[in-house]
Amino acid sequence: MSEIIRRDPRREWIARNRLHPDNAAVLAALGVNRGGGAVSEWMGPNGVVRKDPRAIGFIGPNGVKRIDRSGLQQGGQATATTTAARDSRRTVTIDQPAFLVAVVPDLTGGRLSGHDKDLLGLARRVADADAEQPGAVVAILFGEYKGEGGGELKEQTLGEAGIDRVVHLDDEFYAGFAPEARLAALSAVEREMTPRFWLFPDSPLGGADLGRRLALRLGERAATGVWQVEADNEASLGWRCTARGAAGSLDIQRPLPRVALALAECAEPVDETRHAAEHLTLAASIPTTLSRIEDLGQVAVDPAGVALAEAEFILSGGNGVKQWDAFHHAAKVLGATEGASRVAVDDGFMARDRQVGATGTWVTARVYMAVGISGAIQHLQGIQRCDKVVAINLDPGCDIIKRADLAVIGDSTQILAALVAMVEQQRGGQRDAA
Ligand SMILES: Cc1cc2nc3c(=O)[nH]c(=O)nc-3n(C[C@H](O)[C@H](O)[C@H](O)COP(=O)(O)OP(=O)(O)OC[C@H]3O[C@@H](n4cnc5c(N)ncnc54)[C@H](O)[C@@H]3O)c2cc1C
Repeated sequence: MSEIIRRDPRREWIARNRLHPDNAAVLAALGVNRGGGAVSEWMGPNGVVRKDPRAIGFIGPNGVKRIDRSGLQQGGQATATTTAARDSRRTVTIDQPAFLVAVVPDLTGGRLSGHDKDLLGLARRVADADAEQPGAVVAILFGEYKGEGGGELKEQTLGEAGIDRVVHLDDEFYAGFAPEARLAALSAVEREMTPRFWLFPDSPLGGADLGRRLALRLGERAATGVWQVEADNEASLGWRCTARGAAGSLDIQRPLPRVALALAECAEPVDETRHAAEHLTLAASIPTTLSRIEDLGQVAVDPAGVALAEAEFILSGGNGVKQWDAFHHAAKVLGATEGASRVAVDDGFMARDRQVGATGTWVTARVYMAVGISGAIQHLQGIQRCDKVVAINLDPGCDIIKRADLAVIGDSTQILAALVAMVEQQRGGQRDAA
């Protein structure tokens, strides 16, 4: 018999498309068991082990099949599968690091954002470059850390993001906008640990400001807008970076300085190893009376007035929205900024400045809810940097569903109405309790 490995592109395509009616049968034929506790890995036709990065669907409490790609599934089978995925990670402990790479994540809402995880992936690359003398990644976390899931799982998330050591500063003193207090803490870390590199997310959520302040304090010329870092033996610290400059119009190459502010997607997040995330405390006491800045708290803004590029939560409508009044009402109740597909704009239902996509605005929302949008490539380009995508659509096979972290199959009007009713009921309950 011939040794040539024959591929069946159609079967492979069905195996990748978890919403295809034959998906389960094809996966079973390939030896993948998506049921309780089984691993989602199989030998591909060319002899390479293939991993299914998507979390496995599970039957939710109401009997409906749920697909959750956040890695936090609560269903029995899913928990087993998530555990299997977690167990497949290699545990790495670095007892005596040759050097430290400090990372200061934004930790927006008490959780590591996608940008934070990319940055930790970059830190890991730098720390692990020399297998003989690896470095350790130390994360400095300000404020409450909610993690993903509670208890042990919450701590595990830090290790799985690539963190070897954690300095967690959650005093009230660091809460809100407290750049002076945070800078004092970072200066203490610098004195006690002298990291080889300091990495910050170049984001308006905190990292961009704090990173520049620290660079000034340390007398370093920070690299900002970094999107690529490569090994370079001729650079003094062994690395070279490429950064966006001149208002994003050109790329600047330079040796990686000690302080770097990196953009999202500067590196792949860690997904194969688990690290110790050992907690450290600072020996020095940090002065708590130096603040000349008073944070008066957040100001309530009208979500409708928020620029799409800066919106954290977007409710976006497409050709599948049949009742636009109900859509606007839902956006108001949910406190979401409105976005739209090009068809909705071309048809005159939404203003041109609300268009999301390649020829509209590229958005970076933490939650992007696409209602009646098919997920054309031009639209998907505009939402690639969103953290979580929720799709409401009648067609389970459309491309937005494949991109979505959570998909709801059904009529947009009915689902929005149900969502609004739930939110109003919950708010009513909270008011009654108060
Ligand atoms: C050069 C170029 C640039 C473009 N730039 C952009 C861009 O920047 N942004 C952009 O969005 N598009 C852009 N487009 C257009 C893009 O190709 C698509 O045509 C457009 O995104 C489709 O919009 P839609 O998903 O709202 O509509 P459709 O493709 O018509 O999809 C409607 C969806 O709604 C669902 N649906 C129907 N009824 C219901 C219901 N009752 N309840 C729930 N779901 C329902 C359907 O299943 C379908 O998935 C561009 C095209 C070109 C050629």
